[in-house]
Amino acid sequence: MKCPTPAATILTLAALALLAPRADAGNDALRTLDDASLRAAAAATFPEYLELLSLPNDSAVAADIQRNAAWLEAAFARRGFRTRLLPNGGKPLVLAEHSGNRGGRRTVLFYLHFDGQPVVPEQWAQKNPFRPVVKKRGADGAWREVGTEELLRPGFDPDLRVFARSSADDKGPIAMLLAAFDLLRSRKLEPRFDVKVLLDSEEEVGSPGMAAVVATNGALLSADALVIHDGPVHPGGRPTIVFGNRGDVPVTLTVFGPRTPLHSGHYGNWVPNPAMRLSALLASMKGDDGRVAVAGWYDRTKLTDADRTLLAAVPDDEAAMRRRLGIAEAEKVGATYQEALQFPSLNVRGLSSAATGSKVANVLPHQAVAELDLRTTPEADAEVLVALLRTHVEKQGWHLVDGEPTDEERGLFPKLARLTAGRAGKAARQPYDSTVGRWATAALETAFAGAGGDVRPVRIRMMGGTVPTHEIVTPLGLPFVIVPLVNADNNQHSFDENLRMGNFVSGMRATLGLLLTDYGD
Ligand SMILES: [Zn+2]
Repeated sequence: MKCPTPAATILTLAALALLAPRADAGNDALRTLDDASLRAAAAATFPEYLELLSLPNDSAVAADIQRNAAWLEAAFARRGFRTRLLPNGGKPLVLAEHSGNRGGRRTVLFYLHFDGQPVVPEQWAQKNPFRPVVKKRGADGAWREVGTEELLRPGFDPDLRVFARSSADDKGPIAMLLAAFDLLRSRKLEPRFDVKVLLDSEEEVGSPGMAAVVATNGALLSADALVIHDGPVHPGGRPTIVFGNRGDVPVTLTVFGPRTPLHSGHYGNWVPNPAMRLSALLASMKGDDGRVAVAGWYDRTKLTDADRTLLAAVPDDEAAMRRRLGIAEAEKVGATYQEALQFPSLNVRGLSSAATGSKVANVLPHQAVAELDLRTTPEADAEVLVALLRTHVEKQGWHLVDGEPTDEERGLFPKLARLTAGRAGKAARQPYDSTVGRWATAALETAFAGAGGDVRPVRIRMMGGTVPTHEIVTPLGLPFVIVPLVNADNNQHSFDENLRMGNFVSGMRATLGLLLTDYGD
């Protein structure tokens, strides 16, 4: 192609500037986002939402995943997206692209998932977890079924809930995104950047194919930033941004005693008891104040004053949490609940030795087992923490073996134990003051400014639980932010999963905030 003359270039740029929307057009549109329009767009999308929920979506069943993928391709295509399936061993992911065709625009990739946890239908209050049911809570606190028509009118009660598998995790947010695009189209608005939507088919089993899918489709998935819509908003209900999550590694600690269980009368006072010794070993790992006493455990966690300010701003009602959980006092790891979650933890998740209850007998056990789980951070990962724990156990005089102790080891070492680590889920964290963090914060602040009440976004530096962010963001290599949209009490992963429809509306508001805010600094 011939190079344009400088004059032609200037003219072209001037023409492009005229064609481009005003810089604040998105913000204007956001400020005029009234609840009535959001509800109208939501109500019009609910029939599709209910249809999507009626498709079983256990990621173990390839045929079900394929049906969901086909449904989603059609739904996004109807809204002007270019769609394709990304092969993944019979369980395809769906990629939908929405381009403003203006060239040089930024691209934001939205990640959601359409697979769900397996269901045990007998546990549910409704007949079939894949036949969505609309319910309202009565004055007595009990849920009562109401007709679907109550939901399908724009004046629907925000406290109505739709009960079905994946109503909240994570088909609800997919439907919110579809409804947000319907509203944009009805107002002849365009997102402020090119949009890619990646719909995962195996999130609930840790997205095992993600690395291969990204390796095969790298160019298709290229973007400037990644937004993950998954998980619940802060229990207070304010819009929420999450910048990361801890990882987790399971550890089994076995303390060996005599070869077989012994008569406690014949041998008590002479053969060391492995249950007592395991208890002493565990007690050495944590102080009475709840702080982990393993040397170096907290050394890699450095919190700045700005971090502490961010953590203290999260509106947790710790007194109410202690009352709800039935504890008088919290551990002293951090100054606040949020601060405590920034550090690696050491938890006993199970203990066994001989038997309790009706099976108890007068034995001296032959071994004692503690199942631990260590929550990790990006700085203190599974490898680091397991090595520190191993060193700590050895410092208490224990000899660690790999398998069963040999006769020789039994004869040589008075304190024999085994420590094995299982498969780790890794931590992930994005700086909250990075470009993507500032963009998401500004977008939610603008979107909710007119919504009434205290709706400043709650910013979570790193949540305590483990979700497969690392498995998703590491192959994609993109700066990310998690923007959860659903109610905190949604029974995710359990029976009677539900979505509060007021959260459908606020979720749309959050999504539109992102779509109508220019990405970048
Ligand atoms: Zn999920």
